[in-house]
Amino acid sequence: MNTQRQNPSVVIIGAGMTGIGLAIKLKLAGINNITLLEKAGSVGGTWRENTYPGVACDVPSHAYTYSFAPNPDWSSFFAPGHEICAYFQSVFDRYALAEHTYFNEEVTRCHYERGRWQVETANDTHFEADFLFSATGFLHRPKYPEIPGLENFAGPKMHSARWDHSVELKRKKIGVIGTGSSATQIIPELIDTENTQVSVFQRTAQWIVHTDNKPYSESDKAKFRAKPSRIERVKNLSLYVFEQGTTALTSQSLFYRTMHKLFAWNAVRHLKQKVKNPELRKKLTPDYTFGCKRVVMNGRFYDAMQKPNAHLVTEKIAKVVPNGIVTADGQHHELDILVMATGFDSTAFMRPISLEGRDGITINDVWRKKMVAYRSMCLPGFPNFFLTLGPNSPVGNYSVIAISEKQADYAIQLINAWQSGALETVEVKRSALDSWYAKLKGKLSHTIWASGCQSWYLDADGDPLTWPDSWKAWTRMMKTCNLDDFEHVSVQAQNDTETYSLAES
Ligand code: NAP
Repeated sequence: MNTQRQNPSVVIIGAGMTGIGLAIKLKLAGINNITLLEKAGSVGGTWRENTYPGVACDVPSHAYTYSFAPNPDWSSFFAPGHEICAYFQSVFDRYALAEHTYFNEEVTRCHYERGRWQVETANDTHFEADFLFSATGFLHRPKYPEIPGLENFAGPKMHSARWDHSVELKRKKIGVIGTGSSATQIIPELIDTENTQVSVFQRTAQWIVHTDNKPYSESDKAKFRAKPSRIERVKNLSLYVFEQGTTALTSQSLFYRTMHKLFAWNAVRHLKQKVKNPELRKKLTPDYTFGCKRVVMNGRFYDAMQKPNAHLVTEKIAKVVPNGIVTADGQHHELDILVMATGFDSTAFMRPISLEGRDGITINDVWRKKMVAYRSMCLPGFPNFFLTLGPNSPVGNYSVIAISEKQADYAIQLINAWQSGALETVEVKRSALDSWYAKLKGKLSHTIWASGCQSWYLDADGDPLTWPDSWKAWTRMMKTCNLDDFEHVSVQAQNDTETYSLAES
């Protein structure tokens, strides 16, 4: 091994779920010269920022856990947000990541110069590294609705990801815009708060799969502790169900087409069983294919919407006025508080950070026409840079922890290739990215996500930013690197490449 390359320095932007897992994976692989830069004062990313009432993970806890840090102490099948945040903090502590981390350092600019990444923060601090990872997440920048008069609302108004806990909810008239995963968790809590009146402004009905959240008793936890294989069983079974669900949205086979119909039938059955009033049921019935938007997993929303203080509004919002919302039919809905559960800018990725690769090329330049990255991670012109959870990363509703761990393993293989001298730099060829995406695009157009609804899964051209194949195909792809797809490959490596073809999956 090239002695100068034995101890590569790595900067990771973000100490959320992905950044923490990545730092640990790098350490376990013997790469210890790591700097984690976190814009806030604590870890946890999305789970630090989303503190709205009812916040919980809709992936089962044991499947939303690092493979190297199983947790017998989850309080329930679907853990609440604060517990997930505490889990990340405990793993961060266990692996002594504090010594690698700078808090309150918001990265503003990264540029590749003289063969290394130069990283600048809002505090004018400067870091330098051989490798740069963006671990900023993709559901991170709140998206505010563009509604006339929004700025004139006189009462408290907040985005779901910026909850203001000082706002008193009791005895208030509360409006919630949106019915996605966040809104459907918030709404039952607001409805169950003392003497509230809750108006839910639904633009599009959601497909909802019923979930029961079983608490784990002390005896359950003791059994998990005594026999970790029990945790594995719950995890594997949960992931298996998610895997089948995802494949049902992407596969053309008769088996999975039938499974897709079964999932859809089950969601309709849930709606029919829960919602008895035909008018309300009609309003809550989606008019697009099951799974086109990310499926909502929720066990409380339908019950909550039938309580006397719940009001479903399906008329288009015309404007916001100081004391409420006026809908297109002219009705004035009086409100004291306005909640915008309107989602995130899923295409921001690391931006507004200014990211400049080789020869001054910027991320906005390379993504001007199309937001793509080779295997979701590598970009031509950006040597030794890795995106995590980049475009086409989401594998349906599958656990993003599992996805990000595979991405970490993939990057480590490429860093190892750099360490050994097989790669001069880790820079993917433009041609490799183009041919990879061409195969991907052929599959994307056949997925359910491209079946005609509007969702955060889609880019500006209407192409899904998801992975269009099964979890198995994803893991197969991430298992090996085709070094031939990278620039500056040494002769030894050219003779020794392993290939992966999307067409084989
Ligand atoms: P979302 O799924 O994007 O939902 C946003 C909602 O706001 C939709 O109902 C949307 O309606 C509505 N909306 C947006 N702009 C509007 C406007 N101008 N007027 C009226 N309605 C408007 O956002 P989210 O619920 O925050 O969820 C985003 C993602 O975060 C989820 O899909 C999931 O991946 C993740 N999440 C996960 C969990 C978890 O438990 N793991 C929990 C929360 C969120 P349309 O449907 O008509 O666009």
